[in-house]
Amino acid sequence: MLMSDLILKKRDGGELATEEINWMIQGYTNDEIPDYQMSAMCMAIYFQGMSDRETLDLTMAMADSGSKLDLSSVSGVKADKHSTGGVGDKTSLVLCPMVAACGVKMAKMSGRGLGHTGGTIDKLESFPGFTTVLSMKAFLHIADAVGFSIAGQTADLCPADKKLYALRDVTGTVPSRPLIVSSIMSKKLAAGADVIVLDVKTGSGAFMHSEADAFVLAREMVAVGRSAGKKVVAVVTDMDEPLGHTVGNALEVKEAIATLKGEGARDLLELCLTLGSEILMAGGLAEDEKSAREALGETVRSGAALAKLAAFVKAQGGDERAVYDPSMLPQAPIVLDVPALKTGYVSHMDAEGVGLVSLHLGGGRATKDSKVDLAVGIVLNKKVGDKVSEGESLAKIHARTQEAAEKAVELLRTCYTISEKEPEMTPF
Ligand code: URA
Repeated sequence: MLMSDLILKKRDGGELATEEINWMIQGYTNDEIPDYQMSAMCMAIYFQGMSDRETLDLTMAMADSGSKLDLSSVSGVKADKHSTGGVGDKTSLVLCPMVAACGVKMAKMSGRGLGHTGGTIDKLESFPGFTTVLSMKAFLHIADAVGFSIAGQTADLCPADKKLYALRDVTGTVPSRPLIVSSIMSKKLAAGADVIVLDVKTGSGAFMHSEADAFVLAREMVAVGRSAGKKVVAVVTDMDEPLGHTVGNALEVKEAIATLKGEGARDLLELCLTLGSEILMAGGLAEDEKSAREALGETVRSGAALAKLAAFVKAQGGDERAVYDPSMLPQAPIVLDVPALKTGYVSHMDAEGVGLVSLHLGGGRATKDSKVDLAVGIVLNKKVGDKVSEGESLAKIHARTQEAAEKAVELLRTCYTISEKEPEMTPF
């Protein structure tokens, strides 16, 4: 087989055969196919798309490109969650303890990633002593004994995606549906869970700006996962404004803790109830949505979910006292208010813009070698629909220096649109 022939075939709208896709992914993983040919292939796929069969084949070839997690030593229902990501998304920190308190097991591989804040792994490192570098034995044991464990993705899980994603990132080929579907689903299939819930975000702070595109992506991922024999559910959720009230690593951990105490933002808790119910129903642990939500709500009211978070932090080497005393988490030295310049209602927020303010403060990674400042970020006092008076605080900036804080105040103000008329709100 010649890679140049496959590129020509795809460029001209042809369908790649299963063995051609397998050969291509194996060859690329083993460095036998050079980046320049694979980039041309990605661009051809970007313009020509792939059939459902090709997308499934590509996903399976990528999932098979390295080792797979064997979760057979973990008892009970094994679930995983993937979010396409957004600003202030601390869902895993709330969802995992809640579903674990209902008896679900999650052995979750997570990323650091580039972005406005760090990934889940960076956020968790806000706990003093916490580690996500675990032996496979410890990772599986904690998932089984505590209910969930979270570790950094190992290099041998989906090596094809690791290489391909880095290539797509610099060749303008990330936003291609078959490539996104195969990238996400190959990692989920290799991670070994039986139940997979996908949180596909839509809106200004999301990867998929239009709801219609988010639904198509969600359907394709579900179809691929089900063809691979998994129980897969997708939920399309809003990311038009940041999730919850915090953006920034330690600040998001504090908000997750507050949410597990029943004192957090409604939108965050609601999202965790929605995703958690899908997991419980797909795993056969709840008959219907009403009983699933009731069981999940009870984990918050009883303190069981918070206790799960503490047990997890302890098992992964962290100081679990910080779960009960969040003042032990990193704190920024400078905190400045962002006063509103006029009276009215918050009618719109630029979620992406808020994320960029966090990045400016040092809360995220501009390049893969950047160091994340765990203490900095933003606390949003006002969100869409809230009434605000001139001079009232829209948000608080948590910064390392006065200069960074003052710049962030100016930047964050431009993320708010304040109108005289009360905006119409869609109910949760
Ligand atoms: N996230 C992934 O893991 N892969 C993509 O292609 C896009 C988002």
